[in-house]
Parts: sequence; C-alpha cells; structure tokens
Amino acid sequence: MADSNQLTHHGKLIVFSAPSGSGKTTIVRHLLAQEQFNLEFSISATSRAPRGEEVHGKDYYFMSLDTFKQHIKDEDFLEWEEVYRDNFYGTLKEEVQRIWAMGKHVIFDIDVVGGLRIKKKFPERTLAVFVKPPSVDELKIRLKKRKTESKEKINMRIAKASVELATAPQFDHIILNDDLSKALAEADSLVSDFIRKPLSRDEEE
Ligand code: 5GP
Repeated sequence: MADSNQLTHHGKLIVFSAPSGSGKTTIVRHLLAQEQFNLEFSISATSRAPRGEEVHGKDYYFMSLDTFKQHIKDEDFLEWEEVYRDNFYGTLKEEVQRIWAMGKHVIFDIDVVGGLRIKKKFPERTLAVFVKPPSVDELKIRLKKRKTESKEKINMRIAKASVELATAPQFDHIILNDDLSKALAEADSLVSDFIRKPLSRDEEE
C-alpha cells in the first residue's frame, strides 16, 4: 500500500472532530446531503462491535481486533487511534483514495487526535473543525438520551471529553453547538468557502 504522501491528490479533506455526543454526526450528515459540496463520507475501520442499526460498509468497516492490528502492521492506515481501550478506529488510505477517485471531497467524523493528524499531514488541503458542546453536563444528558451505551461506557466517554475539549484551539474553526440550526448554517458557510479556495502550488497535484 502506498505511503500517505504518495496518495494521488485530487480533492480536499474536511474533518469534523468533537467529544462523543456533541452533535458532530448530525452536522456531518447535513453537509453530506448538500449535493453542491460534492462530499463523500470517509468510512472508518473499527474493532468495536456494531451498535443499533449500524451497517458494515456504510457506517464503519467492522473488523476483529486481530484484523485491525494486521492493517496497522501493513501500514494501511492514514491515521489510527485506540480511542477507547481495545476499541480501535482508523482511516484506511484506500478509503481516501476511493473517494478522491470519484472526484469528490472527503468528510471525516473522527476523534480529535485523528483529526489533527490528518490536518498535520495535509495542512492546506484539510479544513479541521471542532464541534463544541454547550457544556460537559449537556453532553452527559445527550449521551444518556441516546441510550446506545452502558453507564460505564457513558462515563468513559465523559471522562475523555474534557481532554478532547482542551484540543479545540488547535483546530481551524470551533463551532459551538448550542443551537443546531445556527451550527448547521455555520458549517455550510465554512465548507462552502473552503472547497472554493484554490490550493497553493505545493499542495496541488
Ligand atoms: P463511536 O464509537 O461513537 O462511533 O466513535 C467513537 C469515537 O471514535 C468518535 O469520536 C469518532 O469520531 C471516533 N472515530 C471514528 N472513526 C475514526 C477514525 O477513523 N479515526 C479516529 N482517530 N477516530 C475515529
């Protein structure tokens, strides 16, 4: 598999990162529905089990821990992270290639560490957006309402949220998600401006 620097550069990379429960998935889905943006969702690989209605090859590429670790060894990932203990998540280089080959821009819904890694690899080609929940208490309420995780898992996600919130200033933009329609409008305008912006020659093909 080619090194990330050898990926053929065609499109742009739009990263949305946030603590779990911040509403970033809602924002990403909204952006995907805007056809004029020409975005395609980067399906991550994960070693965690499917949740609820999740579908392999749509929400994630679900795989065993062993298979995931083999991909790490084979350097198949653009970035990967053990987001929660024994729950690995990562972006396969092949996935980005697949989307660029379709002539589309890639949109990512990934954790803060992975998001910042992509930004570092492709500084000009990447728009990195942090979605901030109104408060940690609000995050707790949203996660409880979602009813998809056990109490222990919710607590694990909340504990991680404070660490993640501290990385917000490293992103290109922070969207405060206290009012969803405002957050969606802000996301539209950021993405619209970014995909129209020409790249300087060194990040051009
Ligand atoms: P969930 O289990 O709720 O689907 O995802 C847990 C966390 O893993 C979320 O913050 C999600 O954004 C993140 N995540 C999903 N895919 C990737 C990926 O490919 N790379 C990284 N670094 N994080 C990911």
